[in-house]
Amino acid sequence: MKDEFDFIRALRERAATSSSITGIGDDAAVVQTSAGKETVVTTDLLVEDIDFRRTTIPPYFLGHKALAVSLSDIAAMGSRPRWSLISIGVPTDIWQSDFVERLYSGLFELANQYDVHLIGGDTSRTEEKIVIDSIVIGECPAGRAIKRSGAKPGDQIFVTGSLGAAAAGLRLVERGAHLADQNPHEDDAQKLDHVLLRHLRPDPRVGWGIVLGDDTLATALIDISDGLSSDLNHLCSASGVGASIDSTLLPIDSQVVDLCGRRALDPLQLALHGGEDFELLFTVSPDDVARLPRRVDGTPITRIGEIRTQHEGVKILERSRTWELNPGGWKHF
Ligand code: ADP
Ligand code: MG
Repeated sequence: MKDEFDFIRALRERAATSSSITGIGDDAAVVQTSAGKETVVTTDLLVEDIDFRRTTIPPYFLGHKALAVSLSDIAAMGSRPRWSLISIGVPTDIWQSDFVERLYSGLFELANQYDVHLIGGDTSRTEEKIVIDSIVIGECPAGRAIKRSGAKPGDQIFVTGSLGAAAAGLRLVERGAHLADQNPHEDDAQKLDHVLLRHLRPDPRVGWGIVLGDDTLATALIDISDGLSSDLNHLCSASGVGASIDSTLLPIDSQVVDLCGRRALDPLQLALHGGEDFELLFTVSPDDVARLPRRVDGTPITRIGEIRTQHEGVKILERSRTWELNPGGWKHF
């Protein structure tokens, strides 16, 4: 039987902590926070068969995703991620396999990409299902975290990257689609891989989060984890405003448009309600729009609409008709 303390010792060696950190191996971690900065903390729980399926996501991608979702939350506060804590509960058969080592490989690779240090966690056993809790601690200049609540009528609404691919990927995985290296004869292998990877291995917009916070560019900011319709409504209710977006401006992922028509999936519905894209949705005062960089880490942004007063509601313009954009995204219950 694999020993828990050997596992933790191996993790400690893999965790590239610097000498200024007391990380894995003591009762608690000690970190040095920076003068003039505030600490931003987030946690995300991934439960097998609710948030992921063991049979469809390889452990390497699950490790990546566990950290990615929390990095996205830190980015959504306009902050820089610094430290990660990961707690896992796994059944004995998973513990006996190389699952957790592969999970941590995916996690370390993403952590190293953004200079985030794994400083601790906890390990326990479950009867049947895998659970993973991911905590990330970040920093931002004091008083400058970007909340959901700062949007004002007239502010312009932007999103990073593209929408709809993660939701399309989830639907295709559920219909039995595989990555090309597992199924090289699939038509459209490259397009399919792109869409599947957006679901299996989401890229958190860490660079954009840091830029928007450091340069105080956004008035309000949220990550699109539940779906654009739900998350725009969250931002608007927190800010006490309405919004109007234009469906023709939405950066719907081009591969989704290509793949979906033939599979009876509607790209606009996926982009609006699909969720898990982990793009950032933010609002910018008209005076600051010219200060926005075009790209950060290669990721562009797109203006999709404008903040209005609360009594105007949250609306979408589609083919010369205006609809109420009701939250249609992910709910656990
Ligand atoms: P305790 O009994 O105090 O919970 P543990 O033996 O669980 O101590 O943990 C020892 C050290 O290993 C701590 O630094 C803890 O943060 C770290 N650790 C335990 N499990 C994990 C894990 N799954 N991932 C990362 N660090 C872990
Ligand atoms: Mg413990």
